[in-house]
Amino acid sequence: MSLIPKSHPRAKSLLIRKRLVDGFDCGLVAKEGLLAQGRGEAFDYLLGEETGKAAADAIRAAAAQLLVADMPVISINGNVAALCPRQIIRLAKQINARLEVNLFYADEKRRRAIIKTLRRDGAGEVLGSKAASQRRLPGIDSARGTVDRDGIFVADVIVVPLEDGDRTRALRDAGKKVIAFDLNPLSRTSQTADITIVDNITRAVDLLTRESKKLRGESTENLQKIINNFDNKENLGQSIVQIRENLSRRAKIA
Ligand code: ATP
Ligand code: MG
Repeated sequence: MSLIPKSHPRAKSLLIRKRLVDGFDCGLVAKEGLLAQGRGEAFDYLLGEETGKAAADAIRAAAAQLLVADMPVISINGNVAALCPRQIIRLAKQINARLEVNLFYADEKRRRAIIKTLRRDGAGEVLGSKAASQRRLPGIDSARGTVDRDGIFVADVIVVPLEDGDRTRALRDAGKKVIAFDLNPLSRTSQTADITIVDNITRAVDLLTRESKKLRGESTENLQKIINNFDNKENLGQSIVQIRENLSRRAKIA
């Protein structure tokens, strides 16, 4: 039973936090994942805890990019498995993407727990566990450089929720298109990805699924136009302005 009353003014944020803590208690989330969530929460507060226009534009571009992909893969870590497993599986089914578990703090037990959670929630095959399928992605020293030959290794478009900057760089250097969810528009991940969705993944993932459904019937030419018209640096600038405007508004009523 949840101890967080619905009437609490920050109930939503507390419930999301609780998912992470529960995920930690059942072996999905690393300690460092709790800290990453804290950094995300701070930026969410500054953004006004809502999906702004910049995020909506990035979601549209991301949907177009996923629909033109030959082989999209969604990379899964502990935080994602704890926060929104069913929503991520729904997205994967909508865009025909494979799921691959890829951990910064690699740990076999945690990897198995994440795969079990995803399978329980309805995922088909979850890549990232077979030793025989392992390949090394150049440019990453951490465990994250070990990828699946049927997944990230050969993917052309990769969705990386709550990512570390080093791997985003390495994925791009390997010639892949990278779509990131990251609440911090200043992070290296945000600055390096092709398309960054500056929004809480718990809000944005369903919006991305919906947008992919909406754009499904569009021609490749139209989808490519949407992608070409999207400028990630400019979009990140808009999210920074969203923070500034939110702060200005708050400063007036403080
Ligand atoms: P980088 O390595 O890209 O410079 P960082 O070192 O600041 O980033 P990491 O811990 O590597 O941060 O990555 C975690 C990122 O995930 C943070 O930028 C944080 O804002 C973001 N984040 C945390 N929780 C969420 C969430 N629920 N939705 C979206 N983004 C989140
Ligand atoms: Mg980092």
